[in-house]
Amino acid sequence: MSSTREIADLYAKYVMNTYAQKVALVKGQGTVVSGADGNRYIDFTSGIAVQNVGHAHPKVVQAVAEQMATLNHCSNLFYNEKQALLAKKLVEISDLDVGTKCFFCNSGAEANEAMIKLARLWGHLGGKGDDNGGYVEIVTMMNSFHGRTLATLTATGQAKVQDGFDPLPVGFAYADFNDIESVKAAINDSTVAVMLECIQGEGGVIPADTKFMKALRALCDEREILLLCDEVQCGMGRTGDWFAWQSTGVKPDAFSLAKAIASGVPMGAVVASSKLADVFTPGRHASTFGGNPLACAAALATIGVIESENLLERAADAGDAIMSGLGKIADAHPGLVKAIRGQGLMIGLALDPGKIDAGRVVDAARDIGLLVCKAGGNAIRILPPLNVTDDEIDDGLDILADAIDEVAGA
Ligand SMILES: *Cc1c(COP(=O)(O)O)cnc(C)c1O
Repeated sequence: MSSTREIADLYAKYVMNTYAQKVALVKGQGTVVSGADGNRYIDFTSGIAVQNVGHAHPKVVQAVAEQMATLNHCSNLFYNEKQALLAKKLVEISDLDVGTKCFFCNSGAEANEAMIKLARLWGHLGGKGDDNGGYVEIVTMMNSFHGRTLATLTATGQAKVQDGFDPLPVGFAYADFNDIESVKAAINDSTVAVMLECIQGEGGVIPADTKFMKALRALCDEREILLLCDEVQCGMGRTGDWFAWQSTGVKPDAFSLAKAIASGVPMGAVVASSKLADVFTPGRHASTFGGNPLACAAALATIGVIESENLLERAADAGDAIMSGLGKIADAHPGLVKAIRGQGLMIGLALDPGKIDAGRVVDAARDIGLLVCKAGGNAIRILPPLNVTDDEIDDGLDILADAIDEVAGA
């Protein structure tokens, strides 16, 4: 087995330098992962909100192994039952309206890309109700994250994601998150949709206010435009609901999924209410791998585990436990913690940038056995598997407290 050093040397020579890795991982089981150098880590990243049922859950492993040996891919030139069953399940747990349907692809960016295409086509076809159509512009939020394809990085309201990639596609406008007046000002006669994350993930784990969501829904209804939610990170049980929009009291017209949907087998999906469900017709949109039997089997098994192990409830309870643990850490370090935000097991610890660097805390925590993510706004993002145990929570928080002590004292 190679060491992290040897693997890093191969990366330096042969892999484009788009990330800044520090250690190589070789094995994962539940909430624990092992590094190439024999280190053991508590994983509060879940592969960035992907392993919601933990690494290598036996039910998912079995479903994937069986499907791989039976029919892993057959293209969308043919029906496959697993895709039909998964779509039925997603429609049931989303409970949008009668006539809701799904489209499957392979990543979060692709799911958002499909949702953008769906909204534009609806606008072009005169979906708004009147006559001539031609409504194409999508309003997104500042500080959002929607992916790295050209359309989705343009939808992303962060200059650092867009810099150097112009010319960018046209058809996007930006508003301030949690500011309904700003959204109103960004809407014009060619607007077709408003798109947002109910909890901004990369941006620093910033939840949308319920009041803002309700006002958005009313505004979209009034202007006859679409409300689109990006559930790529906050969806699939992470917040204690299947989808984060479910706790806001409003329903979107469509939402996108990816990350946790198939426990790390690449998959993205769009779930669209009846208004949009029949807008795509043969030839309008497609994906070679999208919804193949392997990914669908993984997704069905993942949803089955979340249901049979009551992981929505567990996410809410575990989230409360972590929030109160973080509260104690904040009390022990007056002035260091600016905010503890989030819902369920999507939690952000925002640190005062004038006093401590979140990136250094992430590094220090990793060196003593805890994996956490950095997010925007000098925040540490905590995303454990939904079946994280109480002991793992205690151990993880102890390590995080030690890491903060170390960096703050240095
Ligand atoms: C990760 C993420 C994406 C992009 O997903 P990819 O699978 O990396 O393309 C889009 N939106 C949100 C909210 C995300 O967190």
